[in-house]
Amino acid sequence: MNTLWIGNGRLAQPDRIVNNGSLLVEDGRIAAVNEPCPAGVPSVDAAGGYILPGFIDLHVHGGGDADFMDATPEAFHEVAKAHCAHGTTALAATTMTCADSLLEEVIDAYLQAKTQPWSGAEILGLHLEGPFFSAASKGAQPVAEQRIPTRAMLEHILTHAQGQILRWDAAPELEGMEMFAQVMREHGVLCAIAHTNADADQAMQAFDWGFSHVTHFYNAISTFHKKKGIVHAGVVEATYLRDDVTIELISDGRHIPKESMQLAYRIKGADHIALITDAMRASCTCALHSILGPRIGGVPVIVKDDVAQLTDLSSYAGSVCTMDRALRVAHLQYGLPLQDVCRMLSLTPARLCGCQDRKGSLEKDKDADVVILSPGFEVRRVYVRGVLCHASEQTAKEQ
Ligand SMILES: [Zn+2]
Repeated sequence: MNTLWIGNGRLAQPDRIVNNGSLLVEDGRIAAVNEPCPAGVPSVDAAGGYILPGFIDLHVHGGGDADFMDATPEAFHEVAKAHCAHGTTALAATTMTCADSLLEEVIDAYLQAKTQPWSGAEILGLHLEGPFFSAASKGAQPVAEQRIPTRAMLEHILTHAQGQILRWDAAPELEGMEMFAQVMREHGVLCAIAHTNADADQAMQAFDWGFSHVTHFYNAISTFHKKKGIVHAGVVEATYLRDDVTIELISDGRHIPKESMQLAYRIKGADHIALITDAMRASCTCALHSILGPRIGGVPVIVKDDVAQLTDLSSYAGSVCTMDRALRVAHLQYGLPLQDVCRMLSLTPARLCGCQDRKGSLEKDKDADVVILSPGFEVRRVYVRGVLCHASEQTAKEQ
């Protein structure tokens, strides 16, 4: 049996932070919480830092100079490895708006990647961002590939992906969206509002159809605005009025100001918010020039002020965020309580992608997906199902 004891750290549980907590890991699972180290079991000293559940990123495009749109198994493995070094132990692989032929190649690469071993975050499934979005809220999505859904296209892609699509984002004001929501429901896919110019009425209608999540809330969605001399509420207000709707927030300290994140936290609470990176290729690297989307045919971007931007600086083009930075922004910069930040980084996203029975918290019998951080919230060690996938240089020196 493969056994390990991790102790001497502040351990996050769903309802509290335990000082001097510990975990016993056996064969990739958590066998006991806050019990002394059994005789003869190797131990890891968290050295007064933090022992947290591994982070689950529901919205990530790339990292480590790879993007899922590269459509190779190697790109999937590279992104999983790069983000794992920042505490991500599971992720949804996010695609961009593109032609169906490229989307199928990406899906094929995903399916192939899953058959091969890799070291890094577990890839839970696919997240399709587009191609059904509003040109008015396109962000960095390519307008040329924007379109409206047909049942045939949806069924074709869902079948091609063999049940591996976790979530699909769309603008609900487009034609065909009631059907879209129904098809997502039939296939058990999380249906999210994104890149939209819908007003509050249209958003409410969409929630009734089955849209239940809002993608990168505050970014590329509508809010209070004036149209032809009349004021309208937007998706933001509608989302705040619906207790059943969940949101995700890009926690890079650039996409969302402090007060806006604090407001979202106050209204929605930790059980209805997932913190995400929306990271692109340049994350987990030092690159100042990069490409959003596929390496060939993607959009050139520059990294400036810790965020990826179109070269004319007209729009952000994904983040260079990592989940450890998301933690530091939400907790240290924006002042949200650590225990709730941990829920938003792990348990809520686990629930949203249906794996909360085995991931998202440090509880007995769950996967031993664990991040050990320093007292200053720098990642020291990362375990995926009990296997050490990353150890910082600092940790290596201490050994
Ligand atoms: Zn995205």
